[in-house]
Amino acid sequence: MDDLLKKSAAELADLLAAGAVTSVQLVQACLDRISDVDTGDQGVHAFLHLNSEGAIAEAAASDARRARGELLSPLDGVPIAVKDVLATIGQPTTCGSRMLEGWIPPYDATVVARLKAAGLPILGKTNMDEFAMGSSTEHSAYGPTRNPWALDRIPGGSGGGSAAAVAAFEAPLAIGTDTGGSIRQPGAVTGTVGVKPTYGAISRYGLVAMANSLDQVGPVTRTVLDSALLQEIVGGHDPLDSTSLSDEIPSVVEAARQGLTGDLTGVKVGVITELSGEGWQAGVMARFEESLELLRDAGAEIVEVSCPSFEHALAAYYLIMPCEVSSNLAKFDAMRYGLRVTPDGDPSAEEVMRASRDAGFGDEVKRRIILGTYALSSGYYDAYYGQAQKVRTLIQRDFAAAFEQVDVLVSPTAPTTAWKLGEKLDDPLAMYKGDLATIPSNLAGVPGISVPAGLADEDGLPVGFQVLAPAMADDRVYRVGAALEMLLEKQWGGPLLAKAPTLEGAAR
Ligand code: GLN
Repeated sequence: MDDLLKKSAAELADLLAAGAVTSVQLVQACLDRISDVDTGDQGVHAFLHLNSEGAIAEAAASDARRARGELLSPLDGVPIAVKDVLATIGQPTTCGSRMLEGWIPPYDATVVARLKAAGLPILGKTNMDEFAMGSSTEHSAYGPTRNPWALDRIPGGSGGGSAAAVAAFEAPLAIGTDTGGSIRQPGAVTGTVGVKPTYGAISRYGLVAMANSLDQVGPVTRTVLDSALLQEIVGGHDPLDSTSLSDEIPSVVEAARQGLTGDLTGVKVGVITELSGEGWQAGVMARFEESLELLRDAGAEIVEVSCPSFEHALAAYYLIMPCEVSSNLAKFDAMRYGLRVTPDGDPSAEEVMRASRDAGFGDEVKRRIILGTYALSSGYYDAYYGQAQKVRTLIQRDFAAAFEQVDVLVSPTAPTTAWKLGEKLDDPLAMYKGDLATIPSNLAGVPGISVPAGLADEDGLPVGFQVLAPAMADDRVYRVGAALEMLLEKQWGGPLLAKAPTLEGAAR
């Protein structure tokens, strides 16, 4: 593998600035890596679509700009991959579904437009669970993505493609979305960094909605600083998204740089009592505890904080989310766009809709549409949806009370490491339980990061450490995340990903 590929985006930006490499060379190196490890039966399969020619052209434009001394952003010329749930002009956007196979959006999502305006060549679109529903990327209609650490394991989900692309050194940066953990849990199980910013910090315009009140776009990278650089490029108010925040978040790049000094004096860290214990893998807990010790050594004060309503977060999420899903996905009715299946004879519009939705949606999506439709139906609305919304308020209150006592809250990102492909496919509840620790922050709209915390002893697979902060205080998750990353890498003698067994040479 080209050593260039192992560099962080910040390092690549420095190399570009020094004239040591061109953007075209970088994009070519990524495309070569993708053709080496991503394709074929046992390939990682992080990408659903490659924008090879487009990316090279964008890179050439970046190199030309640089020659004229006109840079668009600190990451001008650094390539990126985008989850296939964001609209891209001229590139297919399938959301991992047959329903949208062949759809080429006539517009760019704001995030994509901002990446282009910042000069980042877009390598292609990454694989995902269908319409972002799942925790393993096995619900993609186009086949699963494999975990670069162990090709027979899941890369997490729903954004397994973005995480695997970054973990397999196919792309230095990626964009993901997180409705219940889809950036952070794949980050945890692939040894990468993933951030769910404050709800509204990054525009959702052009994001195919799963559950609007929970959806959040965010960075997927190999270092905390890279995530910060990326968040500053794609974040900020967007008049096209009425839920996007108009207030400024403190600089996350500055916060990450501050964290990298390793000094956390005066920072109060709360360990969430409810997010550990029975059912949590021993190796996950061991790495978590060690990370806590490092934070303490760095000057942080560690206390236990109870958030009693978190126990009901999973149940509330798996009601609120499907309710929003059932409403959002109603638009795929075979009438305006998307798949249309016309049964024989002289079918009515309803028969066409039924046949199209039956053929276009996979089982998990259908399960959630049915659940959501049921929970919203008259007679059940108050008992299910209404009740879940009340739990959501209690969770928000738990966060508010906790943040009166501490600056950040922490937990393992996920209860287990990556499981085997297929292992939980027939047991949806077991799959949902992987989201235990990530869901509360979506329900409350607060920011969270997952940082690699080491490898579990049982299986040698990556473990994630999660940091949560109050809404608008994304800078805190970056500061603590960067400090932990720096301290851990000092112990390991380099990044965790350097230890991934399948990455050198052939991934197959
Ligand atoms: N795994 C969660 C789910 O299946 C989260 C999905 C997401 O964040 N998009 O709903």
